[in-house]
Amino acid sequence: MSSGKHPGQFYTEVVGDSTFTILRRYQNLRPIGSGAQGIVCAALDLSTSTHVAIKKLSRPFQNVTHAKRAYREFVLMKLVNHKNIIGLLNAFTPQTSLKEFQDVYLVMELMDANLCQVIQMDLDHERMSYLLYQMLCGIKHLHAAGIIHRDLKPSNIVVKSDCTLKILDFGLARTAGTGFQMTPYVVTRYYRAPEVILGMGYKENVDIWSVGCIMAELIRGGVMFPGSDHIDQWNKIIVQLGTPSQDFMQRLQPMVRNYVENRPRYAGYSFENLFPDCLFPPNSSEHAGLCAEMARELLSKMLVIDPEKRISVDEAIMHPYINVWYDENEVNAPAPDPYDHSVDEKEHTVEQWKELIYQEVMDFENKERQLGSAMQNHTGTDGAANSKPPAADGVAKGSPSKNRQR
Ligand code: AMP
Repeated sequence: MSSGKHPGQFYTEVVGDSTFTILRRYQNLRPIGSGAQGIVCAALDLSTSTHVAIKKLSRPFQNVTHAKRAYREFVLMKLVNHKNIIGLLNAFTPQTSLKEFQDVYLVMELMDANLCQVIQMDLDHERMSYLLYQMLCGIKHLHAAGIIHRDLKPSNIVVKSDCTLKILDFGLARTAGTGFQMTPYVVTRYYRAPEVILGMGYKENVDIWSVGCIMAELIRGGVMFPGSDHIDQWNKIIVQLGTPSQDFMQRLQPMVRNYVENRPRYAGYSFENLFPDCLFPPNSSEHAGLCAEMARELLSKMLVIDPEKRISVDEAIMHPYINVWYDENEVNAPAPDPYDHSVDEKEHTVEQWKELIYQEVMDFENKERQLGSAMQNHTGTDGAANSKPPAADGVAKGSPSKNRQR
């Protein structure tokens, strides 16, 4: 099954609390992040002379929650191809049989920082709107594949110093439960929309709420709705935005409705009060739309409790604060093959998940091997990565990709 692989291709290095056993082509490991699934390292890829990020999924089949997430992420990463969604460059396991199978390594494009780090910076309007535009393009592309994220957050969005942005994950599976986790890892829920918190139906603009929360945080420098749990979070939302209308209440399940209707009533604050002028950078001298007033106007259309009254992704992309960056190839890039949602509904035992994940890794390794030999036959060389070098002008300085401006 795993023919063509031999232990000499791999070497082992200890990184923090973790051990990476990876292909020799990847050198100079340096830890750059960690998430619910494991550790991420930066590395130099000797085969392409580029820097990459390698994520180790340790025993991804250790429990059903982990397994489903790893499988879904892997399948989706292979499916989706858009400049604002992280791309999968390689995937491998050092183990040579299903029996021994333990770990999966995902090799991705390397970015410089996640958005949590960017929130600490003072961004000008050009940068802020360009980051938001790219988030919206990535989200629109996921929607085109039938993937509604529902869990966008700053830690899962990464940027480069040239202000390019990529979404790292694919959010909640359709059948995701209410968040019961078998790991001590704390799940961030600050960016989840009211319809997710309140267990309502949802549509694509559920992701607009998260973008609104992220934009608010970029402006305020602090989390907009930092609830300690769902109840506290709902409270933080209604205190600031006001109690939603009866029309909204009527769409809630009876138990939730009873709770929501019996909360104290709040009038909420105006967006001028929530986001006063002093929080914004100076207005852009180049683009009339890139000003505090327009930024606030966009926020007031995204941070709307009732999804029926909230702006759509397409409308947000056309908003004057965003559409200065409009590029048809980015906004309407060809849709990927539709995602087979039966993956989300699948219930398997840990052993079955192990086999499914192993099979996906083997498929990837085999395809790569075939591609590699086809390329060698064709050109006599290894195929180089198709990444183009970014303009080196930091997120916090100068303008993002000046040549993009109109
Ligand atoms: P994850 O395990 O995917 O949640 O990633 C955890 C953290 O690792 C992220 O918040 C980022 O800070 C970092 N990270 C993950 N992937 C990359 C990447 N491709 N480039 C740069 N940093 C990354």
